[in-house]
Amino acid sequence: MPSTATPATATAAFVSKQKSAPKTAYKLWLTPQTSSGKSSNKTTHPTEKDVLKVTLFIENGDGVAFANNNQIHVNANYLGTYKGDLRREFNGVLYHKMTHIWQWDGNGQTSVRLIEGIADFVRLKANYIPSHWVQPGHGDR
Ligand SMILES: [Zn+2]
Repeated sequence: MPSTATPATATAAFVSKQKSAPKTAYKLWLTPQTSSGKSSNKTTHPTEKDVLKVTLFIENGDGVAFANNNQIHVNANYLGTYKGDLRREFNGVLYHKMTHIWQWDGNGQTSVRLIEGIADFVRLKANYIPSHWVQPGHGDR
């Protein structure tokens, strides 16, 4: 996505790669409505996060990556030792972390499992399924 994109445009570019999600959800998300019911590209929806810029860092660290304060930090050691399709894994990590950038957390009251599940769902729908995820029919529940 272009770095000069407005937040709504960036969001649109992010979700447009999802092929099978209902279009009505996108319309609610991407097209803020005015009080008269007309669409407006100038009005910011009050529930949207004000994300003007996201900065990506690739640096040595722990784990895979983390996101906070509109920053994504990806562990260079993880990328450097990754066995498999690195581009696919990197894109998948970015889909997951970008979801966190735009997610609300209910002022810290939302379940971490719900937050992570939504980010993984976005990654899943973008078709960047990591090889270590349990395949259909192979779970323990
Ligand atoms: Zn996460």
